[in-house]
Amino acid sequence: MKRGFLNRAKAKKALSSTTRVVHNTPIDDYPRGTKFSYGKVADAGPPEGYTEHQTFTKEMNAERLDHPEGRLLYTTIPAQYSNSSYDDEPIGWSECLITGSVKRQIYETPEFGRAPPQSDRVSFRIRPTPDMGLGMFATCSLKMGDLILSERPLIVTPVVARPDVQIPRSFTHEQIRQVILFEWEKNLEICVDRMFPENRKAFYTLANAHTEDGSGPIMGRIRTNGYGVIEKLYDKELAHLAVCDKLSYINHSCRPNVTQDFDVASFSFQLRASRDIKPDEQLFYSYCEVDSSATDRKRQLARYGFECICASCSGDTANSDYIRMNVDALISQNKIECEAWTRKPRHLRDDSVLRSSLDLLSDVENEGLHSSDSYPILVRSISEIYTQLGDMEDAKSYLHRQEAWKTAFKA
Ligand SMILES: [Zn+2]
Repeated sequence: MKRGFLNRAKAKKALSSTTRVVHNTPIDDYPRGTKFSYGKVADAGPPEGYTEHQTFTKEMNAERLDHPEGRLLYTTIPAQYSNSSYDDEPIGWSECLITGSVKRQIYETPEFGRAPPQSDRVSFRIRPTPDMGLGMFATCSLKMGDLILSERPLIVTPVVARPDVQIPRSFTHEQIRQVILFEWEKNLEICVDRMFPENRKAFYTLANAHTEDGSGPIMGRIRTNGYGVIEKLYDKELAHLAVCDKLSYINHSCRPNVTQDFDVASFSFQLRASRDIKPDEQLFYSYCEVDSSATDRKRQLARYGFECICASCSGDTANSDYIRMNVDALISQNKIECEAWTRKPRHLRDDSVLRSSLDLLSDVENEGLHSSDSYPILVRSISEIYTQLGDMEDAKSYLHRQEAWKTAFKA
């Protein structure tokens, strides 16, 4: 099982390391932005001659919002008190390692603290797959936009490892990397230790694809299972990752059928159907950019240590690549043709525009490109053609699909 978080171009920030710069030490002495290794590394743990440090704030008062801006602190969201129970927070709490300014940003979000939306039925289950370890499956029919699950993350941490360390100038690049990984793991351990036992158990049950690259067991699980909340929690250059329990069991496909969004106000992810789904279908999320070529997607997925075997990645990929890389242009061209058609006198209109629009929709949907911002434009065009043809039932059905798309992708 491999989990992804980089499904949007602007979210493309690999886990990298930065160090806090010690006073009077030139920045160039530190490997800012150094990418961590994948695969196997020889040395793990801190190098000889390194003295440990530990200086982050352990928050005692959950309501405090006046922490220094760039200072990382451990906090629980929503606030947890000695008498807190799951009756107060049925979907639990998130342990967070965030800066003072991100905490303020969260608490100042309009409607922060609202209850997450809940589905009125259980529509999924997690069970073994023949070839992908565990996976999540639909247990009933789902329509595009249907809410499958609201889930609060187990843990939220920065995308970059940023331990507060002072590293001897004599250390090599490799030794600095070892120190950063070692110290960061200790920071993460504090987060995990703060979890309720059920959450801690769920966290350690998650897959870890980074067992030989120097990542500790916690960082490895975060790298394997983290979803980016990059556009939602952001502090200067410090973006964040969130790891959930159930969402971590969704496998990858370049033809996804679910979409997720993080809602800061309820501090939870919503998982929704991105197209209609049949009972017992496996739910898939795309770990890569769906509008890129098969070669590009393969490169993006390499970090997860598997090769995608979806229909768009196997066999002759030329047609699939063409549709994916030109989806916006194709839909835009289609819209122009539809508009020209509606301007024609009625007796000159044939059904060729309807047929070409439906063919294009079929191609787009086959490739699983429902997340494209152009998708609603295409279904709207089809609805308008049906209206012009006097077929109000089909017109309404495609209009309804446009609304469902908004629920799925713009919730
Ligand atoms: Zn694929």
